Amino acid sequence: MRATIADRITSGVEDARDELVELAADLVRVPTVNPPGELYRECAERLGRRLQAYGFAVEYLRSEPDPDPSHPRWNVLGTRRGAAARPLVHLNGHLDVVPPGDGWTVDPFGGETRDGRLYGRGSADMKAGLAAAVIAAESLRRAGVELAGTIEVSGTVDEESGGFAGVGWLAETGRISAARTDHVIIPEPLGVDRVCVGHRGVYWCRVRARGKIAHGSMPFLGSSAVDPLGRFLERVRTELRPALRGRRTDMPVVPEEARWASINVNAVAAGQAGMSPQTPCVADQGEVILDRRFLLEEGFEAARREIVELVEAVAAENRGWRLEVEDLLVVHPTRTPAGDPLVIALEDGILEVLGREPTLVASPGTYDHKHVTRIGGVASCVAYGPGVLEQAHQPDEWCAIDDMVASAKVMALALLRLVGPR
Ligand SMILES: [Zn+2]
Repeated sequence: MRATIADRITSGVEDARDELVELAADLVRVPTVNPPGELYRECAERLGRRLQAYGFAVEYLRSEPDPDPSHPRWNVLGTRRGAAARPLVHLNGHLDVVPPGDGWTVDPFGGETRDGRLYGRGSADMKAGLAAAVIAAESLRRAGVELAGTIEVSGTVDEESGGFAGVGWLAETGRISAARTDHVIIPEPLGVDRVCVGHRGVYWCRVRARGKIAHGSMPFLGSSAVDPLGRFLERVRTELRPALRGRRTDMPVVPEEARWASINVNAVAAGQAGMSPQTPCVADQGEVILDRRFLLEEGFEAARREIVELVEAVAAENRGWRLEVEDLLVVHPTRTPAGDPLVIALEDGILEVLGREPTLVASPGTYDHKHVTRIGGVASCVAYGPGVLEQAHQPDEWCAIDDMVASAKVMALALLRLVGPR
């Protein structure tokens, strides 16, 4: 009996191929560029109208407080409740896209399809995935499946800038929380045969140096902030970076090179702004911004302490050097528990739909997963969706239509397993 339902569902997705592509293209055609966060309401409504047509109860939820009232942060949440409130599976995709940038040969917001691909900014990351999630949910309804639990689909804002007014806010207000939500699937472009079980941690900080201003013709009367910063950067390169290259996580981070702890100097500035007209002065202030990716095995406290100690060691080299560390952002690493039923349901779906062994991966960067687990307390969360990571944020971004259909089938089978008839 179950085999027939599964067959009906997957052939239903196949029949909805054009509908799926059209929905994804429709979303791509709204340039929800972030920053600043354009046209969220318009995009949310396009998604909301479709959810409504598919039997979802739809709510439009504006983040409060709104970080930028001139670009209102509208999220959309659709709910289809079956026999009970739980189990509840929440499918979430972000509506925002990064600016198109240069180098396009197609209209970034045209939603063009060609040679089996949907093109456009946000096609892979991640409007195709969001559309696939919607069709996955709809295919259960079309196959006449009586839900034992509830399916939710949300389109949320600001993932590209941290997700605080989107998934972060839904989690903070309890809409995504362990008290009501059992599983969360985020169809980010990790590939149709891979399930993403988390990410490394992120620590951004500013190392600031203060010197003493003086005339540039008599630098001996001042103290340059560039000197301690230069020394610090040198020690990052010759001491910290080699140490980090010795630390590898057990998490299956892809690409393979991202399995090590790392540090990137994101910005360096000191004295007068480089492009502006100059007056002769000793730089009395300067800063570097660091982007440290730390491992679950390292932990945040140790990663931070290591930088603070290096800064202190540099300051101790010269009596006149003054340096301080300011935390800018911390994202703790997250990992879906081994043997999680959501992971197993998706793995089985991949095997069934694609006939391939699924791979577990972890993301090199972070995404909204962090809010689901850290704020919402929902451990059963993964990223799974069509498109390849390498297409994200690129010119001529595309997503393969076959992958959109395949991922919708996989998600549909997982939904059947998790909220289908008992
Ligand atoms: Zn994304």
